Amino acid sequence: MIKQELREEVAQATRLFWEKDLSPGQDSGDTSLRDPQTNLIYICPRPKPGVLHIPNWGVIKDEHIVVINQQGEVVDDFGLEPTVEAPMHLAIYEARPEVNAIVHSHAVWSSAFAVTGKNIPLILAEQSLRLGGEVRCAEYGSVGSDDIARNIVKALEGHKNAALMMNHGAVCLGKNFEEAFIVSNFLEKGAKTALLGTVLGKLITRRPDEILDQRLLKKAK
Ligand SMILES: [Zn+2]
Repeated sequence: MIKQELREEVAQATRLFWEKDLSPGQDSGDTSLRDPQTNLIYICPRPKPGVLHIPNWGVIKDEHIVVINQQGEVVDDFGLEPTVEAPMHLAIYEARPEVNAIVHSHAVWSSAFAVTGKNIPLILAEQSLRLGGEVRCAEYGSVGSDDIARNIVKALEGHKNAALMMNHGAVCLGKNFEEAFIVSNFLEKGAKTALLGTVLGKLITRRPDEILDQRLLKKAK
């Protein structure tokens, strides 16, 4: 069953995605939401000349959101195709049952690491709590390929909430969009702080088990 309120939720999140500078324009980057009740995925469309012109995600409307099943087949009747990165979104949902929202960003600070193939080291406490520690840069895969889907799932292993896509961007995961955007904020802050820190000197990195006091870890269990 297709839910109109979920199309509206994805359209609203995608407009926010644009406002937060996570996409420079056109169809650069995308978002998706999984309905855990039906396993249908509500995802950004693929702009196409003569079919769908969207100058940026800031103007996207709910009727532009495409609904696909777990096999990637379109199940709505609006006549639009999903983003070319739909296979990557599907692979992440398959690997991570607890994740129901994905923000695939093309933002500047995290991209600086993605274009050098470098991981973002664990240097701030919040990176450990929100991102799952160090953020890995996935092996390269061309846009829309199965390679990129496979490589990003591998980079997310160990319950990471974010990963970098080499020469491309990043993915941020959450139980919902609120969580995925928080992850995205901390990803950009971590990348920016790491880059600025290297101007002043060698970064002091931390192991995940050093971040939270062991007593707090026990309480959390
Ligand atoms: Zn992309």
